[in-house]
Amino acid sequence: MYIHIPFCKRRCLYCDFFSTTLLQRQEEYLEAVIKEIDSRRGEAGEPIRTVYIGGGTPSTLRAEDVSKLLKAAGAADAEEITMELNPGDATREYFLRLRETGINRLSIGIQSFQDGLLHLVGRRHDAQQAIEAVRMAQEAGFGNISIDLMYALPTQTMDMWKADIETALSLNVQHISSYGLMYEEGTELTRRRDAGELESIDEDTEMAMYDYLCARLKDAGLVHYEVSNFALQGYEALHNSSYWNGTPYVGVGAGAHSYIGCVRSWNPDDLDAYIQGIADSTLVRESETLSDEDRYNEQVMLGLRTNRGIPATLPTHKRLVLDSFVQKGLLRETEEKRIVATQKGLHVLNRIIEDLMI
Ligand code: SF4
Repeated sequence: MYIHIPFCKRRCLYCDFFSTTLLQRQEEYLEAVIKEIDSRRGEAGEPIRTVYIGGGTPSTLRAEDVSKLLKAAGAADAEEITMELNPGDATREYFLRLRETGINRLSIGIQSFQDGLLHLVGRRHDAQQAIEAVRMAQEAGFGNISIDLMYALPTQTMDMWKADIETALSLNVQHISSYGLMYEEGTELTRRRDAGELESIDEDTEMAMYDYLCARLKDAGLVHYEVSNFALQGYEALHNSSYWNGTPYVGVGAGAHSYIGCVRSWNPDDLDAYIQGIADSTLVRESETLSDEDRYNEQVMLGLRTNRGIPATLPTHKRLVLDSFVQKGLLRETEEKRIVATQKGLHVLNRIIEDLMI
């Protein structure tokens, strides 16, 4: 189950996710989410194996509200219960209370350990708070912590990036997710870049940052199990892996997506429409049924992002395309007869995926 909490205390300049700063609406929103959970319990099959509370910023919630959500979901015994957290919300007390709710995995949005960069992209915490957040979480007993790091930030140098990776490793977390900054349409950061107020990092430096990240984390013993995700053995995110391997999931909350029995559906990403629709049971959930072709394409798109890859049994007319990628050293076939991307292939993964889709 995915639970979306679309509230943020302030908007980061690069963000195009669905979220709002109208925190005063949290209470009525939670009421709606709990009602939706009640009405959809069991839809994706039981028991619920993983829960992911994402956002937005779920750590804008009080621990007792988190607890209410998990109780409504009947998921207290789920194998993995993750909550995203902003370091700006971290206190000892909050972590201890979260432990009591059943949350057993934290995803902490650190992004950078450079105060200048954090300020530049509008994060509301500093590096010290980020480090403290991880330490406090560990002291409170969290033994499964993921942190997010961003690269290709404006003015970020390779030395800054290397220093960030070393700091991340020194925190002894079990999982690191890392994404290159994207200049999404309509965001403040893109406006500033287009107005010449800041410059984006060149593509070669971005690639070099990614390669350094992969090599250094591998060297530190983390498994590179998805394009942007690295984990100590046994700490790969179960919930995210479900998205990549086609496990059914129910997404509740505004804008949340669900995938059950070849049907993908999604709630409106509009706070009013969602709250009202749930209150008077008129919520319109758009949906699409995936054809065999759609499902093949999804498998290629998601599978090639992971270290499990995709089965080597591609449709005949894609075999030649596949062979050419193998010859160029962009893909390779494993002993288990699966196709995975090489490090070189990861640089051009979107093109490979496009060419293998039907
Ligand atoms: S905290 Fe996360 S969801 Fe909220 S604005 Fe920043 S990046 Fe977007």
